[in-house]
Amino acid sequence: MDKHKIHIRNTEFKNMLLSELQDITNISLKTVKDRAPVELDQQAIGRLSRMDAMQQQSMDTAKEARRIGRLRLIEAALRRLEEGDYGYCLNCDESISDGRLKLDPTFSLCIDCAK
Ligand SMILES: [Zn+2]
Repeated sequence: MDKHKIHIRNTEFKNMLLSELQDITNISLKTVKDRAPVELDQQAIGRLSRMDAMQQQSMDTAKEARRIGRLRLIEAALRRLEEGDYGYCLNCDESISDGRLKLDPTFSLCIDCAK
């Protein structure tokens, strides 16, 4: 692939990565209060609903942990784009197919090394 085509392809994947990063950041910001610790001395809510609230809070915290994991992958892909390593397998240095990158632009291994 010539440099111009690589540039166009990389811009496309960069936009995909940036838009997902934006979406995740928006969700994280919108759900901040869902992850706040549950008040233990709330008299207004009974013991059962407090348990529910704690369980919900723990699920929301787990979701946030998954979002942070995904953000790390996106940041790493953006770094590879900056450094010109994007689209090459981190293990064997072969190029990763566009089809595979369209499936997930954060993939850093070719199909053979991912097996
Ligand atoms: Zn490989």
